[in-house]
Formats: sequence, C-alpha cells, structure tokens
Amino acid sequence: MSKSVSKSVKPIKIVVIGSGGVGKSALTLQFSKSKFFLDYDPTIEDSFSKSCYIDNEMARLDILDTAGQEEFTSMREQYMRLGQAFLVVFSVTDRKGFEEVDSLIQLIYRVKDREAFPIMVAGNKIDLQNDRCIDQSLAQELVQRHQEFNPYCAYIETSAKTRLNVDLVFHDLVRLLRLYNAKGGS
Ligand code: GDP
Ligand code: MG
Repeated sequence: MSKSVSKSVKPIKIVVIGSGGVGKSALTLQFSKSKFFLDYDPTIEDSFSKSCYIDNEMARLDILDTAGQEEFTSMREQYMRLGQAFLVVFSVTDRKGFEEVDSLIQLIYRVKDREAFPIMVAGNKIDLQNDRCIDQSLAQELVQRHQEFNPYCAYIETSAKTRLNVDLVFHDLVRLLRLYNAKGGS
C-alpha cells in the first residue's frame, strides 16, 4: 500500500499509562521502531506512529508514551480525553506498579465518563522469571472483574526486551477498539 493511501486512514489515538519504570517506553519503542533501550529517559513524553495491517484492515496508530505526573493534572486529563484506547502497563516484577493498575483503569472510566472502554492491561518484563512477584492468575482476576461490565478489557503478558507479544498487545487493543466502535461505542 502506498504512503498516500495509509495517510488517508484516520489515526487511532492510543495512550500508554502506568507507573514509572514498568516499560511503557520500551513497549512503545519496540513496537514502533523495533528497538530496545536499556536507559531511555524516563521523563520523555512523546508520540510515535505506526501503520500496519490488522486483520486485513489498515490501521494508523498514534501512540502517546506518557511519563511522570503521578497526580491527576489537567494535562493528564487532556491526553486521556483524547485517547481512544488505552494500554495500561505494569511490570510482573513490581508489586507497587501492579497495585496502581486498578486506579488507573478507574481514572479512564472517570475521564471518559464510561464504564466500558477499550483497555489492554500488559504485564511486562516476563523475561525476568526469577524476579516475578505478580502471578498471571492475579492479573487475570483483576481483568476478569472489569470484564464483568467492560467487555473491551483484556490482559496479555509481554516482554519488551525479547519482543514477546509486543505486536499482539497493540494489535489486540486495536481489535478491542474496532469491536467497541462496531457496537456504537457503548
Ligand atoms: P517507563 O518508565 O515505563 O517508560 O519504563 P522504560 O521503558 O523506560 O523501562 C524501564 C527499565 O526497564 C529500562 O531499563 C528498560 O530497559 C527495562 N525494561 C523495560 N521493559 C523490559 C522488559 O520487558 N524486560 C526487561 N528485562 N527489562 C525491561
Ligand atoms: Mg518512559
């Protein structure tokens, strides 16, 4: 497909959120540039775009890799309002980051004023098996609780380092958004 054709596809705004150091930038950069950084600046907030076919349909993803601000600032509210789908990242080696996942999801519902919204939860750094402190079942339970009222929520384990499930996590998020839009965004 030529560049001009892909440009005519409306971009999908994806926002990546989560605690510091969990791998938000690593996942975004691995997906959009196929690169893994050991020391990417944790204060950089930037957008990356990537076009790809997902189920034979072209998608243009505009991914906002967020940084910093733990508190609910007006800037945070602004980018969350613009987001059409969210990737909520935690690290399976970091309990504190996992404990923040639920309140981040609640924040999405609040800003969007919706109880159902496309949200992918990524349990990252699964290559660090020996440091793992969050079981897959624990994360799955959390997501299942949300799925009771939000069918557009799912959980996938990733490694930005080995690239495991990196494409899948973004592609499945686009699939959730397509389903959500097909049901009239309700
Ligand atoms: P952010 O603050 O959420 O954007 O986190 P970063 O993407 O900057 O990652 C924080 C640190 O964790 C960096 O040293 C990364 O190289 C490392 N990291 C990120 N993802 C993975 C992963 O899947 N596996 C391993 N082993 N390290 C990772
Ligand atoms: Mg970062």
